[in-house]
Amino acid sequence: MQEKTIKIGNRVLIDKLVHQGMRNKLIKEIENKGINDKNVLKAMSEIPRHFFLPAGLEHFAYLDKPFDIGEGQTISQPFTVAFQTELLEVTSNIKILEIGTGSGYQAAVLAHMGAEVFTIERIEKLYHQAQTLLNALGYDNVHCFLGDGYEGLPQYAPFDRIIITAAIDGIPNVLKNQLKVGGILVAPVNSSINTQVMNKITKLDEQNFKVDYHGFFSFVPMVPGVKKE
Ligand code: SAH
Repeated sequence: MQEKTIKIGNRVLIDKLVHQGMRNKLIKEIENKGINDKNVLKAMSEIPRHFFLPAGLEHFAYLDKPFDIGEGQTISQPFTVAFQTELLEVTSNIKILEIGTGSGYQAAVLAHMGAEVFTIERIEKLYHQAQTLLNALGYDNVHCFLGDGYEGLPQYAPFDRIIITAAIDGIPNVLKNQLKVGGILVAPVNSSINTQVMNKITKLDEQNFKVDYHGFFSFVPMVPGVKKE
């Protein structure tokens, strides 16, 4: 492994051998929890998750836990990122819409796997931070947008895949319409307070969708509108 250093403002981020060791351990852990997709595990074993946590919290990055990233939002637990990515059946060169950029970590995983990623965040501060970091890491196949995920990105539709990383009451038709026939949408859909069921939705044709349910999770809620700095 090669040491990687990037500079963001006055913060210097270094990916060292010791981080690689911690990553390898984390990857084993999520593999043991049931993740099989080798490409997901490979991407996550190569991405420095500690770059995506706020300064001072880096040493928690390789625990299988979510963390606060400011603005009341969280970076998802590594297992959850892996689980959603596996359900999404990611292959290289497909077009993916992500709703809820947050830290940018999930977008980095998808981009690392070779997809072209369009990611929307509603909080301007997080949008800027994630965009700066993803650029510094050289992911020119990630396109960041400040906007309301409830609207999707009609100007870039249709997408092969859509991933929603915030809790939603149901999948709006606007988003279903932006999915290609044969495409897959993965989203945590509210089932009771603070609990969502992971839905994997396959678009069979323009009118028909197949839905599979994949266990319970806890995400921050989808909120409409944009929050400017
Ligand atoms: N995928 C992220 C985790 C996201 S947490 C990661 O890898 O770090 C959920 C994110 O969804 C938060 O940043 C929140 O601000 C954002 N969000 C909530 N409602 C939204 C909306 N309507 N449009 C876009 N983003 C939204």
